[in-house]
Amino acid sequence: MTNLVFLGPPGAGKGTFAGMLGNDFQLVHISTGDILRAEMKAGSPLGEQAKRYVESGGLVPDEIIADVVDVRLRADDVRTNGFILDGFPRTVRQAELLDDVLARHHWKLDAAVLFDTRRDLLLSRLTARRLCRGCGRMFNVLYGPPKKETVCDDCGEALYQRADDSKETALGRLDVYDQQTAPLIDFYERRGLLKRVDSGGTLDTVNALVRSVLSL
Ligand code: AMP
Repeated sequence: MTNLVFLGPPGAGKGTFAGMLGNDFQLVHISTGDILRAEMKAGSPLGEQAKRYVESGGLVPDEIIADVVDVRLRADDVRTNGFILDGFPRTVRQAELLDDVLARHHWKLDAAVLFDTRRDLLLSRLTARRLCRGCGRMFNVLYGPPKKETVCDDCGEALYQRADDSKETALGRLDVYDQQTAPLIDFYERRGLLKRVDSGGTLDTVNALVRSVLSL
């Protein structure tokens, strides 16, 4: 069982590489952002509660998001395979709550991988993202553009930009990262768990870097 945390500013590629590594090594990819968006789409009480934070680029309160993760970590697939937490923890308080959850299961973290690169690149990546209204597929107008600018290649539905991907909100999210999440770098470094990856390269280069820092 391998248990990983993927850290880093928005736009650094955590979700992409968590997906790739999860597939290759049968680790359960748990993205708190994806869970919240699914709850918002379903109009659940959690989704309603999360909406204003997500849309403004702020953070959902720590105790709410830690409960979401706690519930997800109890599933059988996690117990057998291990997990990659993508986008959680995002504050020192969340990291402490995660410690409590892991201690209850007698699990430990193997590594916290920090994905980071130049700010201008993060910003252009963040504002380049488009999602399909139909199937949810993600496109990137910089790196993986759809064949037709505003239409999904797979299902033909319209593409849209997430409210939290506008330039203004993206800048705000980077600020939130600096103030609330960046202290986690120190938190995990002091525990000897931090592995740094420059995620400014191509998909293949970064994927190779991730495997090398994790000795996979
Ligand atoms: P992401 O897809 O990881 O960029 O997350 C999108 C949004 O969901 C964030 O901007 C936050 O509003 C919310 N969110 C996701 N994960 C967390 C978390 N661990 N703590 C608080 N809010 C979160």
